[in-house]
Amino acid sequence: MRYGIISDIHSNYTALDTVLNAIGVVDKIICLGDIVGYGPNPNECVERIRGLDGLILAGNHDLASIGWKDMDWFNSYAKEAIFWTEDQLTKENKEYLFYLPEVLSQKDFILVHGSLYNFTGEYIVTGADAKRSFELMQHRELLLVGHTHHPYAFFRKQRQPVQSLKLIDKDVFSLIKDTQSIINVGSVGQPRDGDERASFGILDMQTRTVTIKKVAYDIKKTQQQMTEARLPRYLISRLAMGR
Ligand code: ZN
Repeated sequence: MRYGIISDIHSNYTALDTVLNAIGVVDKIICLGDIVGYGPNPNECVERIRGLDGLILAGNHDLASIGWKDMDWFNSYAKEAIFWTEDQLTKENKEYLFYLPEVLSQKDFILVHGSLYNFTGEYIVTGADAKRSFELMQHRELLLVGHTHHPYAFFRKQRQPVQSLKLIDKDVFSLIKDTQSIINVGSVGQPRDGDERASFGILDMQTRTVTIKKVAYDIKKTQQQMTEARLPRYLISRLAMGR
């Protein structure tokens, strides 16, 4: 099985469309949440995701945009965009977000937006964060996460110390037997790793690899739409910086 992995689309339809074209033919799409929030195209993004044959999860912004998350978690820019998003989303699209799972367990992997310790809340940033989720994985070897918008891998062989690796475009991470791995492929619609291109991954269970890919999209088009929607200026400018 070959999977296209996407996460943190954040209502950036131009980036989503570019990434899905770049992924091409795969057996299934995995979407690790935050379909909406920050960007200008919430309905377009939800509808495109709804049409995919995929394993789709909810992120914290998806839940907040349907009134299901404590807003104290979000900074003022995120809050402003969430209120705007809630206002824009159609009843059908809100209902779709409402029924998305927060965690999915399959034969080959577990999927979650944040971490296994806190499905849509915790950021896995340090080895200690990763260790908590490794413990909860028990005998399972692969966990795919989003939320930080940084392509990253954490891994540990049996119960040895956790190692980590920042991932960049074209990196191929091998899934090794008896080694637990947590992989984040970065963000489609709001990358924060200093590379402004949209980020995604390909998981190939035959070769047991995850390949990180970056693709340039029309950032100016998204920024123009955000300006027209009067979304916060900081959110508009950060897209071009990839921060
Ligand atoms: Zn996000």
